Amino acid sequence: MPSLDEKLEAILAEVIRRNEGEPEFHQAVREVLESLGRVVAKRPDYADGALIERICEPERQIIFRIPWTDDRGGVRINRGFRVQFNSALGPYKGGIRFHPSVNVGIIKFLGFEQTFKNALTGMPIGGGKGGSDFDPKGRSDAEIMRFCQSFMTELCRHLGEHTDVPAGDIGVGGREIGYMFGQYKRLTNRYEAGVLTGKGLSYGGSRARKEATGYGNTYFVQAMLLTRGRDFDGMRAVVSGSGNVAIYTMEKIASLGGRIMACSDSDGYVIDEAGIDLDLVKEIKEVRRERISEYARLKGTGAHYITGGSIWDVPCDVAMPSATQNELTGRDARALLRNGVIAVGEGANMPSTPEAIRIFQEAGVLFGPGKAANAGGVATSALEMQQNASRDSWTFEQTESRLASIMRNIHDICASTAEEYGTPGDYVLGANIAGFVRVAEAMRALGVI
Ligand code: GLU
Repeated sequence: MPSLDEKLEAILAEVIRRNEGEPEFHQAVREVLESLGRVVAKRPDYADGALIERICEPERQIIFRIPWTDDRGGVRINRGFRVQFNSALGPYKGGIRFHPSVNVGIIKFLGFEQTFKNALTGMPIGGGKGGSDFDPKGRSDAEIMRFCQSFMTELCRHLGEHTDVPAGDIGVGGREIGYMFGQYKRLTNRYEAGVLTGKGLSYGGSRARKEATGYGNTYFVQAMLLTRGRDFDGMRAVVSGSGNVAIYTMEKIASLGGRIMACSDSDGYVIDEAGIDLDLVKEIKEVRRERISEYARLKGTGAHYITGGSIWDVPCDVAMPSATQNELTGRDARALLRNGVIAVGEGANMPSTPEAIRIFQEAGVLFGPGKAANAGGVATSALEMQQNASRDSWTFEQTESRLASIMRNIHDICASTAEEYGTPGDYVLGANIAGFVRVAEAMRALGVI
């Protein structure tokens, strides 16, 4: 692990001491602090007023009980979280995750990442994240609705279009946002469209929001490839996951002439000699809500389903990890390198382990970290808030072209910052520093709060 200077090491030690048993949060903070050494060397004033310590401490953390009734009449209890991390740039903004692995440390790491990601978009949004350890797998539609209503019954008092604006994440898509918005509206007696994003088109959602994270990650990787005179045409891509991010990453890459070799879910992955058939993935995941193993069964010849292995053993030129944190390890990075990978774009939040990132960077692989590469989702959420505030609705083309230019800007600011701080091509360094500087400038201006 690269070492930190004495002051930053002390800050990290304090973060670890105060947030015991939260390894993902420690990992996310360490990565940012590793980049900040160069900022502090150049601009020591950024360390004044305990600014870095303040950035590492969430403004508010809410933990609550979620009672709900299953279809057999049994009462169930889950735990809900909202970490309102930083509101220097705007209302807290960030998704809600429903997954059994959720705990306060996971939500904290996600909220921390979100703060810098949101700053990189250049939009007026602070950072936050929420969720529950609820497992939606196998739950009926009625159970999902009752759970979302109970979750929102508690959370609603902490939200508001100028206060905190959640959206989706793993396990939370259009259906869940609809149920939560309905309950918020009922409890508050306000049609406050801008309080949630990722809404359906029929009640204030934005065109291209569903596609935005995957499309945006593809645009980011396209911009990285362009720096080496390459593009997606003819490239073999492996996209892990098969949720919203993965599906629209595959769609955009395919439209640019790339070939999708494999995708996955938490049980296994599918490869298809003919290239992954996206309509079939959409049918399985968006309509039937089934497992990806169904793909091989429905497709027949040429398609194979593999359980237990690693999707990163499938040879490819471009890898787009779009499932979850720490899904791509050092071992996986070495396998990808052996097979000739040239670019990696993180669609998920922190999917590559620190060892994997180091291996990619040392080998000169173009590496787009999640807080930059997957910022298209939240950026389009901010466009949804804009449309809601002006009671307007933009066309798909208008929205997508705003998304494309935001992603180009994020790429360029990461690249120019990395160059300014002495390591051209290091998008991790560029993203961490550029995001930090934006948040830090605003925090300094607002005083010690
Ligand atoms: N959950 C997404 C993310 O990780 C989107 C957040 C949002 O749109 O607010 O950025």
